[in-house]
Amino acid sequence: MLTVNNVTKKYKNFLANDNLSFKIEDGEVGILLGPNGAGKSTIIKSINGLLRYNGTIEINGVDNRSLEAKRQLGYIPEIPALYDTLTVAEHMEFIRRAYKIEDVDIADKLLERFELADKKKKMGKELSKGMQQKVSICCALVHNPSVVIFDEPMVGLDPHAIKELKQLFRELKAEGKTVLISTHMIDTIEDYWDVAHIMMHGKIAATKHNRGDEDEKSLDELFFEITEGTPEEA
Ligand code: ADP
Repeated sequence: MLTVNNVTKKYKNFLANDNLSFKIEDGEVGILLGPNGAGKSTIIKSINGLLRYNGTIEINGVDNRSLEAKRQLGYIPEIPALYDTLTVAEHMEFIRRAYKIEDVDIADKLLERFELADKKKKMGKELSKGMQQKVSICCALVHNPSVVIFDEPMVGLDPHAIKELKQLFRELKAEGKTVLISTHMIDTIEDYWDVAHIMMHGKIAATKHNRGDEDEKSLDELFFEITEGTPEEA
């Protein structure tokens, strides 16, 4: 479970996150949807303990900056940050040891799952963006986190990789994990989400639950209404 309570983040005088509050339960996929500059990466970096902010963020009920929370958190950044000269296998070994995970087979299991078993000896710099992202995902899952966060995961991926990623979201959800995905690409959102928060100018402008309620506006309608404004405003 992920809980964000009254989080405000300023860069000097610029308010990038303005009193954000939301919650994602176990087995739920949450989406942060919004145009570039809305503040999505800022809240994601705060959740991951990479920024200072005002407010509270909890991972399964504990402060996100505690070691206990970090052990339960997996983060896939927008740009995969691999080591140029470490092989895929060495990346996995490094992370496994950093988290003191005793299951030595975990790396092979993940690499099999992501069809990377034949790339074990390739170095970070030799991999395509799609492959690098898969390695980044494997690294983020080595310690079997219960809360998994993806920042703009679809950017730069080909349609096959996007399809695989959507399958992964569904699998994580089925395993009871808490998943948070930030994206500005509304056309990549299918039926795998439970709750979507539309962000604009650092605030949550609207929240929609995926209950298939035909009386409600669709996520598309809501998104374009908020981001494009009414005809007069546009
Ligand atoms: P998004 O992920 O939705 O594109 P960001 O969280 O990256 O949005 O950025 C929100 C706003 O904060 C943008 O206007 C951006 O220019 C600004 N911003 C982001 N990082 C910094 C920073 N380190 N210093 C100053 N302004 C920043």
